[in-house]
Amino acid sequence: MALSGLDIFKLLPKTNCGDCGVPTCMAFAMKIAQKKAELSSCPHASEEAKAALGAASEPPVRLVKIGAGSGLEVGGETVLFRHEKTFFHPAGIGLEIRTSRSEDEIREDIRQVEGYQVDRVGEVLKANLYFITHDSGEKAAFLKAISLVKENSSKGLIVDCPQEEALKEGLELLRHDRPAIYLRRPLTEADIQTAKAFGSSLVISGASFQELADQAEKARQAGLADLILNCPGDGLGGAVQNNAILRRSALKKGFKPFGFPLFARVADEDGLESLASSAALLCKYASIIILPRFDKALLYTLFTLRQNIYTDPQKPIQVDPKIYAIGDPNPGSPVFVTTNFSLTYFIVSGEIENSGTSAHLVVCDTEGQSVLTAWAGGKFVPEKIAKFIRDIKLEEKVKTRKIVIPGFVAQISGELEEKLPGWEVIVGCQEAADIPSFVKSVKLV
Ligand code: SF4
Repeated sequence: MALSGLDIFKLLPKTNCGDCGVPTCMAFAMKIAQKKAELSSCPHASEEAKAALGAASEPPVRLVKIGAGSGLEVGGETVLFRHEKTFFHPAGIGLEIRTSRSEDEIREDIRQVEGYQVDRVGEVLKANLYFITHDSGEKAAFLKAISLVKENSSKGLIVDCPQEEALKEGLELLRHDRPAIYLRRPLTEADIQTAKAFGSSLVISGASFQELADQAEKARQAGLADLILNCPGDGLGGAVQNNAILRRSALKKGFKPFGFPLFARVADEDGLESLASSAALLCKYASIIILPRFDKALLYTLFTLRQNIYTDPQKPIQVDPKIYAIGDPNPGSPVFVTTNFSLTYFIVSGEIENSGTSAHLVVCDTEGQSVLTAWAGGKFVPEKIAKFIRDIKLEEKVKTRKIVIPGFVAQISGELEEKLPGWEVIVGCQEAADIPSFVKSVKLV
């Protein structure tokens, strides 16, 4: 049963010292009640408070880690909709490897996955997991598949192996790698013992909510806390609906058996069907999505969608405000000015590169807002741009006395020239895609 803010307040020291980053104990208690803070932020909490508040301050969806080292963390979410706060742990995207494939084919599968990553707005996006399906029946093939992944990748592993002996030998190979075990059948006591013995998490499946809840409760009672839930339902609609019900039950009702990350597996359909299924499941709460095979178009789309879903809406992704060298500029190269919204920066810098011109790109601090938004909000205005240019001592770093501003803020050019005596302000193009032709048609230095 969730505790109210007042209940939590009674357990806090009530000194209002502010060491938790919140001015008063009452305000901190309200944050814990809203799952926006954890008790560990109060360094003065008593053991009694920790014991009493342990469950109340736990995230309603458990954080589960798969893989060694930094590994993949999934779950730990506190809201149903991103705009309520943010989603914290991006879903893991995994590729299936079948032991019925030849060793060469498996090597090629791994080579493709390992060789593919996307650099987008400052983040490197890639797959996170392998899912080994033991469908050959040959123990040696299962062990070989595990070894091949281990030799060629540092990604986490989920193993689906119905043969107990092969599974245990495979887990022995992964003893320090925090794998997850996928169960095709209902959970048994032996499964719990195996997961505990090898430090694994368990993916449990249920055809109904009752079946799933019974298994999750059985594992919890046995002290196995790292679970991942799979409730596929009838078709894509059923899977999405089930995921929504599971996540809602965990977040809104505090139903502990459903307070775990969710698992989804995409059937081997044609490209568009796979894309529709995986995108819908990514949007509706899958924490892990397993794809049947490597497909660049599908992966690129999912990486982009995942990046958008898991970006904090309250913190625009931004780059550091400073002068960036695009290409190999010298003091005589042209100077462009823009904002520090990541997308703006990467698009503008990419188009300057495409133009074949080396340049200095002055990126002003607009708290991550794009050009027009920042201008409308008073963050990309002549006074602030001029101050920034003075602060970074631009005139000592370049010989030119011309700067190019985005075409969308042409109206600030006159005032900016007044604030920057000795500088000529050139109004650039509105769309970054026009930079290459703009550079060729205007004298910039
Ligand atoms: Fe209260 Fe603890 Fe926060 Fe201090 S650190 S204000 S005692 S909750």
